[in-house]
Amino acid sequence: MAKFNISRLRTPEKVAEAWKHQYGRTGVWRGVYYSETAKSKSAKEIYDDLCHSTTLDECDKAIGNTSWTTNNCHSCEKASRKPMIEMEAGSDEVHRICASCLHEAYQTLLKGTPS
Ligand SMILES: [Zn+2]
Repeated sequence: MAKFNISRLRTPEKVAEAWKHQYGRTGVWRGVYYSETAKSKSAKEIYDDLCHSTTLDECDKAIGNTSWTTNNCHSCEKASRKPMIEMEAGSDEVHRICASCLHEAYQTLLKGTPS
């Protein structure tokens, strides 16, 4: 049976931790990033900015996009910081569904007549 979980809450501390795990895990920082707000900062410089961030908006600004502070709904593909339902979808894959899509799916189920 598929297991349902609620997506984890993101905090500036958790974003910094995940960033370090991704780009500085071995003790050697890798990568330089180019974006409107992050300019051409190194992964370490961005990590330092994340460590000083007190809000997720500040994290977005440090990184230059919202991909580290949001989840994407697999149904409507919208990014959001609101909790989503996570469903196991194969070995290592997780599908996330937002409340709006869950509601729509439930309404469809209630109205629907299987053919
Ligand atoms: Zn959705």
